[in-house]
Amino acid sequence: MDRSFDQTLARLKDLVAIPGIAWPSFDRTPLERSADAVAALVREAGLPEVQVLTVNKEDGTPGGPAVVARRPAAEGKPTILLYAHHDVQPVGDEALWETAPFTAVEKDGRLYGRGAADDKAGIMAHIAAYAAVSEVFSDSLGLGVTFFIEGEEEAGSPTFRSFLETNRELLRADVIVVADSSNWKVGIPALTTSLRGLVDGVIEVQVLKHAVHSGMFGGPVLDAPTLLSRLIATLHDDDGNVAVEGLVAADTASVEMPEADYRADASVLDGVRLAGTGSIASRLWTKPALSIIGFDAPAVDVASNTLIPRARAKFSLRLAPGQAPAEAMEAVRRHVEANAPFGAKVVFTPGEAGNPFRTDTSSAAASLAMWALGEAWGVPAVETGIGGSIPFIADLTEVYPDVQILVTGVEDPDSRAHSANESLHIGDFRNAVLAEALMLARLNSEGLA
Ligand SMILES: [Zn+2]
Repeated sequence: MDRSFDQTLARLKDLVAIPGIAWPSFDRTPLERSADAVAALVREAGLPEVQVLTVNKEDGTPGGPAVVARRPAAEGKPTILLYAHHDVQPVGDEALWETAPFTAVEKDGRLYGRGAADDKAGIMAHIAAYAAVSEVFSDSLGLGVTFFIEGEEEAGSPTFRSFLETNRELLRADVIVVADSSNWKVGIPALTTSLRGLVDGVIEVQVLKHAVHSGMFGGPVLDAPTLLSRLIATLHDDDGNVAVEGLVAADTASVEMPEADYRADASVLDGVRLAGTGSIASRLWTKPALSIIGFDAPAVDVASNTLIPRARAKFSLRLAPGQAPAEAMEAVRRHVEANAPFGAKVVFTPGEAGNPFRTDTSSAAASLAMWALGEAWGVPAVETGIGGSIPFIADLTEVYPDVQILVTGVEDPDSRAHSANESLHIGDFRNAVLAEALMLARLNSEGLA
């Protein structure tokens, strides 16, 4: 596989050189070039029916160009859909990069460059695995394979849902591999088996009809920022666990994250006690987390001696797998209305809602993936969660309720996706290609038994 792996790496470097960014404020030309380059690579790998497809956003402008290619399944064989995305994050502050972001550079066993990991390595893992398997099996490859390489993931996938609905039959599959996540660490592969959901919204506290002089009126009534702070303080118990009743929480993470690693990665200051109870991994993956992400009150620089009549805060609540977003939203509403401090008026405005995700780890597809990852790396794979969300996964599960979704990836904790000096561990990338080739081969010969 050595020569072909060198080729795979060379093609990955070519892709990194194309700065395809799907944000509306960026030139669209490189994004289209990026889609065409991916389409050419998919064609070169031998996939028939390669197309670049776009659907329009609600405002009538085109969404990111997606590459779709399909090899229909032989009678009785399953179809696997391989997902990755070819658009990348903008580079941010270029001064923070040690090498030019759009020139892939190999250094100390890693490949540096924007998109080297997220997610152009995901694309190349799919392409290299498919090429290897179709060479080995040639005519006996009956497995259906669909490529779906999205072109707007880093812009929030604005047309993902309508793209799925428009191309529902074209993209239908038995198993979907989403190669856009991370392994546990360099040398230890992981299947991402849970993602948290999210709800957010605004909590406003009103106490006076208008602002009044704090000398003349201060004392008998508390100002809105103070009352809002007291209300916010009820959202956690004294240990820092979320205290909103009715939220799903479980202490079921199967790997342990050392406290020192968490403290270092999250840059927690010395002396700060961690919040919550249970293992750190479960606090990150299988329990809710509630944060205040915005606070509206007069700014310090323009503060005057008045009692502030109203104040509002935006909350963001990460949801454990198994939690319905609508129920979580109602739970927060009930909590803030029931805890209105000093009888202040509390106005709750619900915001966005996204579903959590959990893989059925007993499914044939999950067992197959765990086996293939273990074989390729030579050490057993672990099941991990992600504390954040991948919103399009919820769309996939809604449009295809019976499909088995496997979230894999080429990143590791040092990959710095979205940040300066993004990089890919080349040895693990090679393992990822091998793991996917093993999966495709076994799926072809044994199906989803
Ligand atoms: Zn990504």
